[in-house]
Amino acid sequence: MDYRSAFTSALEKVHAEGRYRVFADLKRHRGAFPRATWTRGDGSEAEVIVWCSNDYLGQGQNPVVTEAMKTAIDAAGAGSGGTRNISGTTHYHVELERELADLHQKEAALLFTSGYVSNEASLSTLYKILPGLIVFSDAQNHNSMISGIRAGRGARHVFRHNDLAHLEELLAAADPAAPKVIAFESVYSMDGDMADLRGTVALAKTYGAMTYLDEVHAVGMYGERGGGVAERDGVMADIDIVEGTLGKAFGVMGGYIAADSVIVDAIRSYADGFIFTTSIPPALAAGAAASIRYLKEHNEIRVAHQARAAALKERMLKAGLPVMATSVSHIVPVLVGDAVHCKLISDILLEDHGVYVQPINYPTVPRGTERLRFTPSPAHTDAMMDDLVAALETLWIRCNVQRVGGVAA
Ligand SMILES: *Cc1c(COP(=O)(O)O)cnc(C)c1O
Repeated sequence: MDYRSAFTSALEKVHAEGRYRVFADLKRHRGAFPRATWTRGDGSEAEVIVWCSNDYLGQGQNPVVTEAMKTAIDAAGAGSGGTRNISGTTHYHVELERELADLHQKEAALLFTSGYVSNEASLSTLYKILPGLIVFSDAQNHNSMISGIRAGRGARHVFRHNDLAHLEELLAAADPAAPKVIAFESVYSMDGDMADLRGTVALAKTYGAMTYLDEVHAVGMYGERGGGVAERDGVMADIDIVEGTLGKAFGVMGGYIAADSVIVDAIRSYADGFIFTTSIPPALAAGAAASIRYLKEHNEIRVAHQARAAALKERMLKAGLPVMATSVSHIVPVLVGDAVHCKLISDILLEDHGVYVQPINYPTVPRGTERLRFTPSPAHTDAMMDDLVAALETLWIRCNVQRVGGVAA
């Protein structure tokens, strides 16, 4: 076996499909987000504005968060020292889980090392706890949910994205006696659209299904205290298991679920991805708890965030840029529709305009819907937006990309 050539040809395939990924090497500047220094391959540097961070509210630079982390390191050291069962449950972990349970008005919460792991571990474990389980999964669910559902090796039905009529068809056709879970997201991060939480909850009640909701792109950002779209829509009590991340709006890292204590206790007891791994460092737990507490009390940040997203959408639409109409959230996707153009525009923005926005290509989104995905935060100023829109206008002409109404410049 020529191992080396197997790896080489795997890479060649990715290159040939135009989906080879190049990571931008960034130094973010605390206190000056969204500014960062970008280091090129040759070692030279340039100042850029980051337009695609999921640190949506800038909590990664909030002194309340960074000070809590420094204090925890000084008090408790660097790592946790073990799995949760074997010396890795510090008081910081316990307090954070209480904070999360309170955020979602649930009896309990359970921490994982990331949002990815929380979805994969929890969904696969539901199959162990509920023999004969059928999971009904939205077609656009995140890779981590799909991975967990596949790992469960049980029955699954995929319903068309946000199509409740199709979901109902599948629920009605399933064995009424079988345990059922509907797995979906509140905010879908590539299109910026949202699920109908009330409608989904109503179907779950009619057909005796549990609901599993990924609120990764909503926690901290929606609802009066940042409890997500379920809080905003008044359905928190009807969601059986809510899943979230500490790595996006909360600005730190880690993942979790929140639910009734019997559900959390069972997943805690059966989920390999929870049991057999070192717990997050105390400083992460302390920073996340401080961030959640802060955002519970500062709804004005959410108001400012929504206003910034609306301002950017308005400026772009005025300039005739094809903001995708799917977005009803803080995410601003702009359609390019071609992988090569998408990468090219992103490269020129970075090199010539100090704008960093990563191209979103297949397989993250379907071919033909390649896009730039902007995530304005409260720290993105009017002047930054004006510069961005001016740069995009120039590039749209230069690269001859379609504008709104199909007018190619
Ligand atoms: C980012 C993401 C995750 C994973 O969360 P991490 O904490 O980054 O691992 C899960 N679900 C969705 C919808 C996501 O976008």
